[in-house]
Amino acid sequence: MEQQESTPQRRPGRAARPVGHVLRIPIYMNGSMLLLAALVTVVYGNWVRAELDLPDPVGYLVGLAFVVCLLGSVLLHELGHALTARRYRIGVRGITLELLGGWTEMDRDAPTPKVDALVSLAGPAVSLVLGGLATAATLALPDRTLADQVAFQLAASNLLVALFNVLPGLPLDGGRALRAGLWALIRDRNRATEAAAWSGRIIAFVCLVAAIWLYRAEFVTLFGLAFVILVVFTLWQGAGQSIRLARMTRRFPLVDLATMARPLLTVPAGTPLGEAQRRRSEDPRPNVVLAVTDSAGNLTALVDPVAAERVPVDRRPWVAVDSVSRSRDAVPALPLGLSGEQVVRALQAQPAGQYVVTSGEDVVGVLRVGDVAEVLEPRRPRTPRGMK
Ligand SMILES: [Zn+2]
Repeated sequence: MEQQESTPQRRPGRAARPVGHVLRIPIYMNGSMLLLAALVTVVYGNWVRAELDLPDPVGYLVGLAFVVCLLGSVLLHELGHALTARRYRIGVRGITLELLGGWTEMDRDAPTPKVDALVSLAGPAVSLVLGGLATAATLALPDRTLADQVAFQLAASNLLVALFNVLPGLPLDGGRALRAGLWALIRDRNRATEAAAWSGRIIAFVCLVAAIWLYRAEFVTLFGLAFVILVVFTLWQGAGQSIRLARMTRRFPLVDLATMARPLLTVPAGTPLGEAQRRRSEDPRPNVVLAVTDSAGNLTALVDPVAAERVPVDRRPWVAVDSVSRSRDAVPALPLGLSGEQVVRALQAQPAGQYVVTSGEDVVGVLRVGDVAEVLEPRRPRTPRGMK
């Protein structure tokens, strides 16, 4: 039931096409969910069949009805997040449903701690209301009937979802609320995110220890233990991703176009690649990028370093730079003066290997995406220079 940060990458596992729309919000379903839905239909169907002494097909039908209700509950929980976000003019890209939770993808982060807290807590609030309604239904319905059984399961699952999600650790909803509180307190969203994510890791660890203890005391089955381990693993990973993202975001101001743009060395169209590379090796400036000019001296293309490396050394005197170049129009442009955050957002909006850095009409240099990655995540292994 976590909400997605507005990360650049689409989360893996999301289907490419929505299965439908609710209030203009695209709804996606995870493929792995079908397997789990079938499993729950059979396991729960079998159990309810034995419990209420029903014929086989009816049991499975009840199982299926329960799965549909569960999905409906998850959808309403996520709509709680999505509609609250929309109310504060945060765009919603979509909702993905998984049987044991869903996630809402928004196009930007909440602008203030208050909005962050409201959007996070709206989901569990919906689950709490649903759980309350289902509880009222179980109390009103006659005992040991089908409707009573399904209402009871829905009450239990919604209340459990509401309770579990308000645990104060990222990536859970409660973790986002904790982050919002810390953010308001220390006025640093990234540090607040890191702290709330560490809290998430502590919660994951405590859940794991508790589950093992309950299993050894024979309070939970092996299936239950396996399920908790899956949840703990997901939590741990989600918390780790939040920490990584917060550390990266904190480094956004270090992305400075003026200092990071690699200088250009222009050669006329038709120059052999070997000759162009010789001129570059004699250029005293570091990390020079080769570019191609037309007869009027206008920059028309950038040499693609990967394509240039692929040309065997003995062929380079006979290959024109043009043939291993990309047209300047095909390379996205970034104007000097953008802030670090604006640069990162532009890179996310238009992914490419390199960008021309412009000042007015002029191209003043080239930004390599690998250089930005090294600034944002300096500890990752360095890739050899000249290969990217
Ligand atoms: Zn949620």
